[in-house]
Amino acid sequence: MEKYYDVIVIGAGHAGCEAAHAAARIGASTLLITMDMNKIAQMSCNPAIGGIAKGQIVREIDALGGAMGHVTDATTIQFRMLNRSKGPAMWSPRAQCDRGKFIWAWREVLENTPNLHIWQDQVRRLIVEDSPGTQGSLAKTRPDAQSPNAETHLEAQSPNAESSSVCSDCVATKTAVGVETYLGMTFRAKSIILTAGTFLNGLMHIGRVKLPGGRCAEPPSLELAESIAQHGIRVARMKTGTPVRIDARSVDFSLMTEQPGDTEGRKFSYYPFPSPASEGAASFGSNKTSYNVIHSTSSLQGVAGESCGLPSLPCWITYTNEAVHERLRAGLPDSPLYNGQIQSIGPRYCPSIETKLVTFPDKDQHQLFLEPEGTNTNEYYLNGFSSSLPIEVQIEALRLIPAFRNLEIYRPGYAIEYDFFDPTQLHHSLESRVISGLFLAGQVNGTTGYEEAAGQGLIAGINAARHCTGQDSLVLQRDQAYIGVLIDDLVCKGVDEPYRMFTSRAEYRILLRQDNADARLTEIGHRMGLASSERLYHYLKKKEEVERIIRFAEDFSVKMGDVNALLEQLGTAPLARGCKLRELLGRPQISIGNLAPALPHLRQLIDTIAKRQDEIVEEAEIQIKYSGYIAREVEQAEKMHRLENIRIRGRFDYSKLQSISTEGRQKLTAHDPETLAQASRIPGVSPSDINVLLVLLGR
Ligand SMILES: Cc1cc2nc3c(=O)[nH]c(=O)nc-3n(C[C@H](O)[C@H](O)[C@H](O)COP(=O)(O)OP(=O)(O)OC[C@H]3O[C@@H](n4cnc5c(N)ncnc54)[C@H](O)[C@@H]3O)c2cc1C
Repeated sequence: MEKYYDVIVIGAGHAGCEAAHAAARIGASTLLITMDMNKIAQMSCNPAIGGIAKGQIVREIDALGGAMGHVTDATTIQFRMLNRSKGPAMWSPRAQCDRGKFIWAWREVLENTPNLHIWQDQVRRLIVEDSPGTQGSLAKTRPDAQSPNAETHLEAQSPNAESSSVCSDCVATKTAVGVETYLGMTFRAKSIILTAGTFLNGLMHIGRVKLPGGRCAEPPSLELAESIAQHGIRVARMKTGTPVRIDARSVDFSLMTEQPGDTEGRKFSYYPFPSPASEGAASFGSNKTSYNVIHSTSSLQGVAGESCGLPSLPCWITYTNEAVHERLRAGLPDSPLYNGQIQSIGPRYCPSIETKLVTFPDKDQHQLFLEPEGTNTNEYYLNGFSSSLPIEVQIEALRLIPAFRNLEIYRPGYAIEYDFFDPTQLHHSLESRVISGLFLAGQVNGTTGYEEAAGQGLIAGINAARHCTGQDSLVLQRDQAYIGVLIDDLVCKGVDEPYRMFTSRAEYRILLRQDNADARLTEIGHRMGLASSERLYHYLKKKEEVERIIRFAEDFSVKMGDVNALLEQLGTAPLARGCKLRELLGRPQISIGNLAPALPHLRQLIDTIAKRQDEIVEEAEIQIKYSGYIAREVEQAEKMHRLENIRIRGRFDYSKLQSISTEGRQKLTAHDPETLAQASRIPGVSPSDINVLLVLLGR
């Protein structure tokens, strides 16, 4: 049986769910094929969304009109804003979620998304054909560039505009046209998004036991990776691991430290009530294919609401000890990580407990967090104890921790090895440079983490839909979004270990805050047809109120007599003369909240904000306090945009440029960057190599 769609998404993990939701919502008829509908958006490892830098990504997904924020809010059982003691660039929201309800909330979203069909099955093979007009030819021209007038052909782009990443000089010789499944179905589509996660040739390890699988108790995807790699897409292997799941009835909680969530009712989504009127848009495909665009009802209505309604549950802290370490060390000869059974590279920042022992032999304890998996289950996740040691070693070692003396577990920790594809063979749109119409997102691109996967999925979903109608791709810049940083890093630098996001990866951290993702991305999401008009209006109202406070702070003069007593109380110097409110708010001890009682006009202004008062005041305060840093980063970003606007792909034969370093030549040839800015970010390409290119371009 054969069926036709605009977009096919393979895999309903975090990348696949966002991809399918985005593509369908902007009007593409979309098919989501996944192995098991009851495992949609399964959190393979810890049941938590967000965290440092990852929380910013979730806010970005939400601002663009994606669903991860709403699903998280609907299923949160503990919320914490991490790094509150540091500057706002470092604040990162994190939510512990009910694992089971998370799956069902996502299912509800997907099952109620117009244009989206779900098919439970396993994809066996990607169907690929020669691209029209490219049979047998080298579909790539590399003119002898360096013409003195070369720059006159360069197209200037507005820094914040969406730009096409489809290289005009570089046409893939192959095109993905469909998939075949194990149930004997053939589905054809204009765009295909692969989001198969850890399932491609997945092999699980527990001690010396090896089991083929994509995740605990789930089969691997065995033929698909080969059907893709045979066309020239480079494939390699990585590994990851997960800890034991514990039965709470066997735990002595009185011997652990309770870690409660924040008491303030924070959440991920900027937009609390997806309205029945719309979360879709009409602009897509208007000039090419006429999609049957439906202004969809966001199906999370009735799931999310203002707050999720689930009780807030604490996490618990305990520690390993020397006895535990001794038992674990005795098991090392059977550890697949140390007996040669596992060769591939795992996430350095998420080490197994055995790796921690080997790397830090002098540490006599390691912190463990016992995290609830949901409101109506006894299952707990033991964060910090990822392991692939034999089952008996894991249990015996844990029973040497006082709180776990009578420990019973539901399942052991394990490691898994899987295939991923070299992301340097992607365009920034996440379309393959080797097979056109094939988009890749998530773990298959060498990343790790739900949020990293979801961010890529959203971009792949938008661009796959736009590909169907020949529209330019959405490419987020490094100063616009962590998602932009993530994709740019993948494409320009590639990966040699599972890539996870950190704030340190972003050079414009003060611009990419969790509080302002709506300001950065809502309008783009709306233009893409994903963020509804209501969402845009909701953001514009906030913007207006924030600007009102900022204007007030710039204009309002503070008199010494009104504030000096308060300033002394707050431990900051009294004023020697009057000053503008804005100046006073620059002091670290001062906030709008603690000044308001002394300044009735300020109090009155705040009282006029009927809704989202805390969010709006906080946003205005951050913008006022950090205006100097923000302006500096904007200036730096503008400088980088000048390089970003200089397109170089196809303009040089790098092998012939003797004035460039040998490493620079090799790296530029291998990566073939689209712009000069991308070239400057490739490891091994030096600033003097960039200067040579600038000179050759006549700049
Ligand atoms: C054991 C383990 C431990 C992990 N530990 C961590 C960690 O500590 N920290 C961290 O950040 N991340 C961890 N991860 C990774 C995290 O789970 C992934 O980064 C994230 O889930 C990736 O999302 P994804 O959408 O790319 O893929 P997944 O969530 O893996 O989803 C893939 C989906 O594709 C489907 N699928 C696969 N092949 C096919 C096919 N041929 N046909 C149809 N459907 C298919 C699967 O059924 C699944 O629904 C771990 C993963 C595992 C398995």
